[in-house]
Amino acid sequence: MAKAIIIGSGLGGLATALRLKHKGYQVTVFEQNHYAGGKLHAIKQDGYRFDLGPSLFTLPHLVDELHDLFPAIDNSFSYIKKDVGCHYFWEDGTRFKAYTDQKDFVNHASKLFREPKSTIDSYLTNSKSRYNLTKSLFLEKSLHKWSTYFSLDTLKAIVNAPFLGLLNTLDEENKVFKNPKLTQLFNRYATYNGSSPYQTPGIMSMIPHLEMGIGTYYPQHGMHSISQSLYELATKVGVEFRFRESVDKINYNNNLATSITTALKTYKADIIVSNMDIYPTYKKLLTQYPAPKKTLEQERSSSALIFYWGIDREFPELDLHNILFSNDYPTEFDHIFNKKSLSNDPTIYINITSKETKTDAPAGCENWFVMINAPGNYGQNWEEMINTARKNIILKINKCLGTDISQHIATEYILDPCDIEKKTSSYRGALYGAASNNKFAAFLRHPNFNKGLKNLYHVGGSVHPGGGIPLCLLSAQITADLIQDAS
Ligand code: FAD
Repeated sequence: MAKAIIIGSGLGGLATALRLKHKGYQVTVFEQNHYAGGKLHAIKQDGYRFDLGPSLFTLPHLVDELHDLFPAIDNSFSYIKKDVGCHYFWEDGTRFKAYTDQKDFVNHASKLFREPKSTIDSYLTNSKSRYNLTKSLFLEKSLHKWSTYFSLDTLKAIVNAPFLGLLNTLDEENKVFKNPKLTQLFNRYATYNGSSPYQTPGIMSMIPHLEMGIGTYYPQHGMHSISQSLYELATKVGVEFRFRESVDKINYNNNLATSITTALKTYKADIIVSNMDIYPTYKKLLTQYPAPKKTLEQERSSSALIFYWGIDREFPELDLHNILFSNDYPTEFDHIFNKKSLSNDPTIYINITSKETKTDAPAGCENWFVMINAPGNYGQNWEEMINTARKNIILKINKCLGTDISQHIATEYILDPCDIEKKTSSYRGALYGAASNNKFAAFLRHPNFNKGLKNLYHVGGSVHPGGGIPLCLLSAQITADLIQDAS
């Protein structure tokens, strides 16, 4: 049986392990941590449960597909569809419930923001067309194989290129709305891949279609159940996991990747897949091998500063996903991407899974995941930045909710970009690999195969097609198909 080694048990690593096992490989996953899941991890503290990383779940069929590979295995994973995607709050008292049904969204948004229904409706219809035109080329296939460019789907995307919004920024596209609050609401989608709306191309206006067209979901036992259920499935089908065994080196001979070395020993394999961020894959595991300079020099996506707060009371006006918007969005992004600092008026995202899973907090309490977008780790004084951010966050929550939230924080855990970098080897603590702050970003992402080293493949959020749960799962699918095609 051919042997496959996977470096890292993030979502991309887990999904690739399952796909290769399904194709008949003997699969071993090496993981530096004592747990599987990478950024998709959770903690319990003082009676509260917190998902540490992702909180928004879209395209759940990509997880179902992995479970469906092994129909004989009893492994439960279930989720619900949300009617409301997000609750939005502004300091001037404006509040908006964003329904995931397009008609409902258009009706409510048109009324509140005094925007013609036709403008909002055609924006969302355009979002759907852009998603459908580009997903096959940019998300579902390798961008680095000639065969990708000889298909009807690609031809369609090329013919429609002038209508894809490649020449404008997302903010410029979103100026179609007269009400700046609606522009801000749609600008936020740039953060779904860690980019700035003032730099990312207008084609990113396809992202709202994921929420308003396809829907947002919630896994019934929290986000952690995505990685946990895949890990459990992998162990049931015979994937071997070697936890706390960090890979130090990828060995090669005559342009053929042959084995990996850990502190314990060297392990040979027919196929090696790195789920480690592409930057340290070259800088730490392939130190003697020429690295693709342009790819590694790409600007990194934003990181995050998160306060996990056990709150000793309930807030009926809040839902699973809540956004408290900054009064000055351009300045916030200028801080994140140019000044590498935090604005004093950040947009705050509050995720509360106890709204759906009551056992995530003690009775009458809520588990708040309070996140602001942050620059990557460039050696800033994080202690000082965290203290200031905490004060600014509390001030803003108090203004938007008319309460003194500091009186209700029963327990606290903090995660900053340095922690994210340390725990997952994600270069600079980036959440989504490289940023999409220019129109060529998709083409500059590292391919899922290694151009110089045969038998070495790359999977996960720092390579094609990009970061976020759905794209990591798609990267595993592309990688497993490439491996099969090469065998
Ligand atoms: P990672 O999760 O990065 O895991 C890589 C694994 O490799 C880790 O387990 C690491 O320990 C291991 N590893 C690294 N080096 C070695 C080595 N040398 N030897 C052995 N093991 C090694 N996505 C969404 O879709 N929705 C969201 O709402 C969302 N929010 C997010 C919020 C936060 C705070 C964070 C951190 C991320 C968020 N994301 C979100 C992004 C999403 O979590 C990631 O894109 C995705 O989980 C990355 O998966 P990955 O396959 O790239 O692997």
